[in-house]
Amino acid sequence: MTERELEDLVAAVPSQAEVLRHLFLSDPAIRRVAMEVSRWAGWYLGMVRGAKEEGKKVVLSSFNTAPEVLYALDLVPLVPEVLTSFATIFLEDPHVYFDWSVEEGLLETMCTSQRAACGAILKGLGLRPDIVVTAAPGSCDANSKLYEYMAVRLGVPYLGIDCPTYHGERAFRYYLKEYRHQVRKLEEFAGRKLEEERLREVVEESEKCRRCYLEINDLKRARPNPVHSCFNIFLQAVKFSSVGTPQGTRLFETVLEASKDRLRRKEGAKPEERIRQIWVYTGFYSPSMDLWFWLEENGMSYVVDILTLFHAERPIDTSSLDTMLEGLAQRCWNYPMTRQQRGPMDYPEQWLEDYLWCVEQWGGDCFVFAGHPACKNTWGGFQAFIRALQKETGLPCLKIEADCWDFRVSPVSEIKRRILEFNETMGLG
Ligand code: SF4
Repeated sequence: MTERELEDLVAAVPSQAEVLRHLFLSDPAIRRVAMEVSRWAGWYLGMVRGAKEEGKKVVLSSFNTAPEVLYALDLVPLVPEVLTSFATIFLEDPHVYFDWSVEEGLLETMCTSQRAACGAILKGLGLRPDIVVTAAPGSCDANSKLYEYMAVRLGVPYLGIDCPTYHGERAFRYYLKEYRHQVRKLEEFAGRKLEEERLREVVEESEKCRRCYLEINDLKRARPNPVHSCFNIFLQAVKFSSVGTPQGTRLFETVLEASKDRLRRKEGAKPEERIRQIWVYTGFYSPSMDLWFWLEENGMSYVVDILTLFHAERPIDTSSLDTMLEGLAQRCWNYPMTRQQRGPMDYPEQWLEDYLWCVEQWGGDCFVFAGHPACKNTWGGFQAFIRALQKETGLPCLKIEADCWDFRVSPVSEIKRRILEFNETMGLG
């Protein structure tokens, strides 16, 4: 597509002009990623929409459930956190879905990351899942309760896991037993056995994403950071919904190649990278990706948020069905939020240790905490966590109280104002 054709396309869709301009007209590498995202989204949404017609069963699957087993069983993962984030970024008025979720019993105190998609499902708009599956109950009460509620309301089976509230080998062995049980139940539900060869194929595909991810992490060490802030959400979306598929792998590879290209051209935050931000929990999934592009255009690099932290994943041994299931259980055990919100926050392999690792890897000039109202766990431990983190690193932290998906709580303009005020007060940049 030529530049002129893209400009015409942007002009033809005024309601989406801002996000399209950001994605397609700001930088050739970002455009390549945006093209691949369009292909991936077309494929993923098409698969979800066409599932029933093709006789496939749809799984309402929480973001912290590894999708590999679902693909290997020919099930279709419908991940509400991914759909909600894309709705808040790309839809003109996503608020109607949040309001619907409240009408259907999912209150404002629940996590907004699921509510837009689940509100639509409960209103009968879109697809009705056949089962609810989550690999992380217990780490986050809001998340756990929402999935149980969805199963009850939809009258479909619920497959959870009894997840220990602490770390360590003994806890993981227990989790692994539970995970295997969940997979057995999924086999019964799918009406087929998990075939070793098919799982190997999916896991090997998923391993390609893990390797790309490690390379992308390495690139973030460069200053300016060539991995554009908006790339993180695309990696998250694939990670939660479609690792193990060639379509997912292509998006990871495209982000890697685009970031390498930006590294070669020394592209990063403009006019130069003055402030490197480490987001210690979620980001803000703002309309039109406005916030991420604004940060980049104002000299700030958004290096990481918790949903892009997959650093604890290990390579999966594909020699047998058993080793692959253990590897996938290890992934679920270490998924973002599941890992950091399990047990005391200053224990090894916990929130504090992970963010010390981030600073060691990428440096950073400050932390930002997007204080999401539903995150009772994080709010409960935040002061202790941040005090310990600041003691070790000496970096300042901006704490913003706002909803990460519903911008009626605090508009993006106010979030930007808080960031600028913080930078000025702390003498950053
Ligand atoms: S930890 Fe917070 S952001 Fe994550 S699912 Fe729970 S409430 Fe939502």
